[in-house]
Amino acid sequence: MSETNPKLRAELEGIPTYKPGKPAAAGGPAAYKLSSNENPYPPLPGVLESVTAAAESFNRYPDMACTGLMNELSDRFGVPLSHLATGTGSVGVAQQLIQATAGPGDEVVYAWRSFEAYPIITQISGATSVRVPLTPGDVHDLDAMAAAITDRTRLVFVCNPNNPTGTVVRREELERFLDRVPADCLVVLDEAYREFIRDPEVPDGVELYRERPNVCVLRTFSKAYGLAGLRVGFAIAHEPVAAALRKTAVPFGVSQLAQEAAIASLRAEDELLGRVGSLVCERTRVSDALRAQGWTVPESQANFVWLRLGERTVDFAAACEQAGVVVRPFAGEGVRVTIGEAEANDIFLKVTEAFH
Ligand code: PMP
Repeated sequence: MSETNPKLRAELEGIPTYKPGKPAAAGGPAAYKLSSNENPYPPLPGVLESVTAAAESFNRYPDMACTGLMNELSDRFGVPLSHLATGTGSVGVAQQLIQATAGPGDEVVYAWRSFEAYPIITQISGATSVRVPLTPGDVHDLDAMAAAITDRTRLVFVCNPNNPTGTVVRREELERFLDRVPADCLVVLDEAYREFIRDPEVPDGVELYRERPNVCVLRTFSKAYGLAGLRVGFAIAHEPVAAALRKTAVPFGVSQLAQEAAIASLRAEDELLGRVGSLVCERTRVSDALRAQGWTVPESQANFVWLRLGERTVDFAAACEQAGVVVRPFAGEGVRVTIGEAEANDIFLKVTEAFH
């Protein structure tokens, strides 16, 4: 009955809820999940131990300030504590960033297609999304993005590498773009897949942040570090932005288990980055195999590949599932396929061979 319903903000009307990557069917035919860009390796024993130790006191709230992790990050990146903020996954930090910067009447600019959370968190804030189409080669069109910025633009997301295409923007074009962005507009470099980049021309966002007060870098422990289920991400940003992020944080939003696992992962970085190296080799193998089969695939610098399939997208995803791998379809456009275990990648390649 409408008169008993509480008043909800009109902006929330029609916002889609998050669509998680479809899980693999336990014991079923679709055994491998290649739909959420997760890390296929199981947790390192040392990381698991740190989580188990932290679990002994989960009757207590976590350290709200994430002191240990913040100190580790400060040392690791050579940034002051006042320039750091942690959050419930980097999507949580992205949501805080919008909450802190944009509201009704403001605009948020991002490429499209890109990370599916951007339109959702923008709409939740009441701000307006300005989507700038990728080039025909599936790369950010930074000239068009610069041209889309108005005096209402508060935030620009640059997803580098871009989800779901895996494509990157390189130093020269990114610097040229940043030169054109007004000083009062925040540019968020979303580097969720940073550790998978092998192209030397792609700049490290942290270097750009050091030179520019309106640049903020988003990173996550979900991908290269393999902690997707623990929900911890962070931002490196200049003081007013980082301070706003600390204000808008969900209290106790990063569990002690997540904090300890993130610290242990930073300390086990060499081993984890070795695993990333193996996944990058698999990415090359999969991309080469797809091209040898006759597919056109954009050069991915992330832990997934993008296959344009147009109207055949949904059928292709169903064929993958039938064969034993779950992929992520974007109906009418294409599928994003995570680089997983070699066996899983082989199954995917069998489907692409039959489908082409
Ligand atoms: N940014 C991008 C580009 C992503 O693809 C993802 C995860 N799919 C995230 C941010 C969020 O990751 P998390 O919240 O797990 O840190």
